[in-house]
Amino acid sequence: MLDKNWFSEPFADEGLAFSLKITDKLEQVQTKYQNIEIYQTDTFGKLMVIDGCVMLTSRDNFIYHEMMSHPALSIHPDPQNVLIIGGGDCGTMREVLKHKGVLQVHQVDIDEQVTRLSEKYFPELCASNNDFRANLHFEDGVKWVRDAKDGEFDVVIIDSTDPVGPAEGLFKGEFFTQCCRILKDGGIYVQQSESPLLHAGTIIKNMRTDLQNSGFRKIQTLSFPQCSYPSGWWSCTLASKELELDQCVNFVGDIETKYYNREVHSAAKAIPQFCLQFWQEN
Ligand code: SAM
Repeated sequence: MLDKNWFSEPFADEGLAFSLKITDKLEQVQTKYQNIEIYQTDTFGKLMVIDGCVMLTSRDNFIYHEMMSHPALSIHPDPQNVLIIGGGDCGTMREVLKHKGVLQVHQVDIDEQVTRLSEKYFPELCASNNDFRANLHFEDGVKWVRDAKDGEFDVVIIDSTDPVGPAEGLFKGEFFTQCCRILKDGGIYVQQSESPLLHAGTIIKNMRTDLQNSGFRKIQTLSFPQCSYPSGWWSCTLASKELELDQCVNFVGDIETKYYNREVHSAAKAIPQFCLQFWQEN
């Protein structure tokens, strides 16, 4: 049995749990939206937890943040205006801003406390928060997108919590339709899409179908390892109205990454056999 020196996130429906040995609880804040905890772990650096779910650790967040940003920004021929919904830890925004051609990023997280705690405990992720191209907003992403102008963005990234609580609306067809509207015709949409092992036939399948019904013609799910998320295997789903997602990527080697490169991008596109039955229609 695990004792109080371990943080555990159980996934009751799946009969599994993920645990990290902790040495200290650094902070706990109940905001209007969610409960945020910060721990010092023994071997994974700091850990942020929202409503009992692991959001990120110092040790492995680079994989997720790089996969949420660099594939789309490398496929798009000239990404200038980028919108991030969620992403309050600021790690995805830091990666986006490594692309010199990006002129501005708007990040809209519902909960300002996520960003304030990230600045305090994960300052490396917030290194670009004062970049003149960064614009931080603290509002509901569903509402912000509804109020945005048509065709305003080249890339829209949904870096959200799981589809429960405040993030529920970010997984609905109506939201996808609004995101499609605010993207330029050649734009790319990216959404964290949970675990291929656990959600291939449910959340990911539904997201792919709903994106297609919302005006996106091309859909592509990329998978990658993420040991601190349920099952240790995660995904993001890309969508575009007309841009070919399968083309060569123009990733330039002068952007410093720890996980992403051209070969990683190619490998992430491979669809495992058991997922094909769920995703082949789109
Ligand atoms: N990588 C993480 C994961 O997959 O578990 C997500 C990290 S990021 C911290 C998730 C963010 O989504 C949180 O900061 C949360 O406040 C934000 N969020 C949830 N619902 C939202 C909404 N409706 N509008 C904007 N941000 C939202």
